[in-house]
Amino acid sequence: MQIQAVRGDITREAVDAIVNAANSSLLGGGGVDGAIHAAAGPELLAECRELRRTRLPDGLPVGEAVTTGAGNLPCRWVIHTVGPNAHRGQTDPALLRACFAHSLDEAARVGARTVAMPAVSAGVYGWAAQDVARVAVEAVRSWFGEVDLVRFVLFSPAVLATFEGELNGTPGHAPP
Ligand code: ADP
Repeated sequence: MQIQAVRGDITREAVDAIVNAANSSLLGGGGVDGAIHAAAGPELLAECRELRRTRLPDGLPVGEAVTTGAGNLPCRWVIHTVGPNAHRGQTDPALLRACFAHSLDEAARVGARTVAMPAVSAGVYGWAAQDVARVAVEAVRSWFGEVDLVRFVLFSPAVLATFEGELNGTPGHAPP
């Protein structure tokens, strides 16, 4: 499996599946979640509402992942995962690791071979980007299954640098 880190807006990724840093309600929010719903259009929210009505009446638990279609986005699927919220004391790396691993499980289940992922929990949920990068890269590297490409799509140069540092084996430093 190839692992990349790039700077960009995940809503523009023409991969098979993009991962959404959702909240438990699955009904939209700010940050990357808001951007994804805005770009996907009302079809995505309708699918999320249907999930809440059927399989997930209490919402999606932290660390779990679920897949929907992608509305008007250039990808085929959106994999929604709920990151741990540091502001609520959810600071166990295992929870964050589960987000990345379960998202890849979902990708494999639906047949998505190329997957773009954001820095789950590194925004409103208050995790340090460095910690997210370390956990995310380790989780993806140790996941085995039928996915060819994982591309971390990071919104800011600083967060991109932390992911590049992890991928290049120089954690905490931007690559030369
Ligand atoms: P969380 O609530 O899990 O912390 P956020 O959406 O607040 O999720 O932030 C997660 C990360 O996603 C942050 O680093 C934020 O800068 C980044 N982000 C926000 N919008 C986008 C986007 N359109 N594409 C990629 N990353 C984004």
